Amino acid sequence: MAEPDAARPTPLSLRDLAAVDLDRLKSVGPKLVPRLAQMQLHNALDVLEHYPRRYVDRTHRADIAELQVGEEATVVGEVRRVSGRRTRNGKALVEVNVHDGTAYLAVTFFNQGWREQQLSVGTQAAFFGKLDVYRGKRQMTNPAVDVLRRAGEAEDYTGEVVAIYPQSGKADVSSWQIRRIVAEVLRRCAQRGISDPLSEALRDELDLIDRGDAYRMVHTPEAFAEQVAARRRLVFDEFLRMQLGLVARKRAFEHNLLGVQHSADRSLVDAFHAKLPFPLTDDQRRAIDEILADLVRPAPMHRLLQGDVGSGKTVVAFSTLLAAVQGGYQGALLAPTEVLAEQHYLGSRRLLEGLEVESSGGSLFARRDVRAELLTNRTTAAERRRINAGLAAGEIDLVVGTHALLYDTVTIPRLALVVVDEQHRFGVEQRSRLREAGIGGAIPDMLVMTATPIPRTAGMLIYGDLDKSELRELPPGRTPITTEVIGPNPLDRARVYATLRAEVEAGRQAYVVCPLVEGSEKVEAKAVTEEYERLQVEELAGLRLGLLHGQMPGAEKESVMAAFRDRALDVVVATTVIEVGVDVPNATVMVIEDAERFGLSQLHQLRGRVGRGGGTSWCYLLTESEAPEENERLAAMEASTDGFLLAEKDLEIRGAGEVFGERQSGFSDLKLGRIPRDEAVVIAARHVAERILDDDPGLVRSPQLRDEVEDLLGDQLDMLFKS
Ligand code: ADP
Ligand code: MG
Repeated sequence: MAEPDAARPTPLSLRDLAAVDLDRLKSVGPKLVPRLAQMQLHNALDVLEHYPRRYVDRTHRADIAELQVGEEATVVGEVRRVSGRRTRNGKALVEVNVHDGTAYLAVTFFNQGWREQQLSVGTQAAFFGKLDVYRGKRQMTNPAVDVLRRAGEAEDYTGEVVAIYPQSGKADVSSWQIRRIVAEVLRRCAQRGISDPLSEALRDELDLIDRGDAYRMVHTPEAFAEQVAARRRLVFDEFLRMQLGLVARKRAFEHNLLGVQHSADRSLVDAFHAKLPFPLTDDQRRAIDEILADLVRPAPMHRLLQGDVGSGKTVVAFSTLLAAVQGGYQGALLAPTEVLAEQHYLGSRRLLEGLEVESSGGSLFARRDVRAELLTNRTTAAERRRINAGLAAGEIDLVVGTHALLYDTVTIPRLALVVVDEQHRFGVEQRSRLREAGIGGAIPDMLVMTATPIPRTAGMLIYGDLDKSELRELPPGRTPITTEVIGPNPLDRARVYATLRAEVEAGRQAYVVCPLVEGSEKVEAKAVTEEYERLQVEELAGLRLGLLHGQMPGAEKESVMAAFRDRALDVVVATTVIEVGVDVPNATVMVIEDAERFGLSQLHQLRGRVGRGGGTSWCYLLTESEAPEENERLAAMEASTDGFLLAEKDLEIRGAGEVFGERQSGFSDLKLGRIPRDEAVVIAARHVAERILDDDPGLVRSPQLRDEVEDLLGDQLDMLFKS
């Protein structure tokens, strides 16, 4: 690269842009500064990355004079008259007259009283809708509106494509104002140019435009196609930064020799398998082999175990934990909630029954039972002291708990293995904190389990720093589940309970799930206790009902579940407490009330409680609502029992930020990128990140990229690029 000379100043990096405060711009007066700050716009980079929400392509606008009745079109014009009133039945009615140079158009808004303010006389706007005729008059009713400039604002756009920025009701900054600020930033950037961390060769290969062009074209495209190319480049940059961070993190783990080298002795694991009432599936066997191979290596394991509901992850988790116990180490199984921790603990007691390890103290060949303890918020201080003592003495092998409790209140002196049942609720950051919990500077091995399959690209983002084992096949003995969405019609409801009763008559069992415990008035969800009492005297009178919710004491919960397992109860009326871990193969009916309140993956989890071997099963999704978005989710449940397909559907419907939590793995850092839409870009970025780091592991030769990754990841970076 040529040396920069005085005549040609160095192009601006993103950091340079971030150092330019907005009050230095002519287009930003002192009054505007705080309003922009409210929108998180503080500097020139923020402005450049404040991307348009939409574009109005004026080449595709229709002339009002030529509009045909029944035609859908975009009309761009100026408001010449506006009036608001109430109809006879009290609805707000706003009538607007728009002129576009060819003719006038009447536009009518029902129930949108605020349009009167928005579309004051002189406002220039785009209206998208269908032309109809009302009482012989041509008009548009409730069209979509994009305000191009408000009354009094000067015409500023010259291009045919106009950027429309996200509405910011509170901050009161118009699209027009944003466009002016953006224009000034772009004008200033044009002098020095914006530097591009990607070489021209790489850009050619990936068919990406230059970064500076991309910022310009995304805001002020001259043609619609320009903003498409611009977005592609900017989305690539977002994903490249993330992938550089993740790949670097993965490599840092691989080169870290500070892990624990576990025993290669499999006898405890083998004894555990011999005790199981079933043979392992091929997938379980393979996953366990992969994990044990990791464990005997000095580098810490960092592995994801991915498998659908009921795929048998628990057995793999305990095999992993026992491999650590074999060598005299301690393990922890962490769940995101207390309820889940309790359930894992109950399960562990059954699974570990009869397993022995060599006792550390005492005579040479003394043996004792493998011992696990539960740690939750409900664990008393005295209990905690006892557990701490047991851990210190090496008498407790495994701790089951929530992850916060683990490092706050216990010391596990020989912690060498952590299994995280994360359910999407832990992120990269939390995982890296876990590593600090290790013994004597050694980093515990880590297995992360996810109950819901994660589509490939989302996995690349969230788990891009992990190796992966997958349980694709479900264990044998699964029975088909018929899923049906049941609307408010009482006849349909009656049929649901009739099926449930018939199944109970045939010796089967059932679940009824209600969305909330002790439902508040604010939410209309039925309180599970009331529902339990109601069902007892109404639809399910005469059956043996049990109640289960998260606020019951652990022992009580345990006894209800035990009674259900022993078939002393026919039906459990529960909250989502039963979402994970409850395993009663004889249950064949799942009734989910107010199903529209649940997420898709949660519904899938709940449904996974039936179809476990008790014969043909039913899942009824009860709903009062007819809202299309909600029905889309329920329809997806009806259409498929494939957790993988449902997970992709969920992403499509809700978007990654919602599904995985905003703070997960930098989803909140994505301004333009969307999963699964940008799948191809993620994959390309992953490959490029690997290539760049193969060549230059510390990003020494790409300081600009290094800065960008650093700004994304903050202080975690040092760890990554430490040689
Ligand atoms: P996950 O946690 O992946 O949802 P679980 O570990 O709870 O699934 O297993 C679901 C059910 O399958 C449990 O009843 C478990 O005992 C059973 N199971 C696990 N592995 C096998 C297997 N290899 N063969 C038959 N049943 C199995
Ligand atoms: Mg499980």
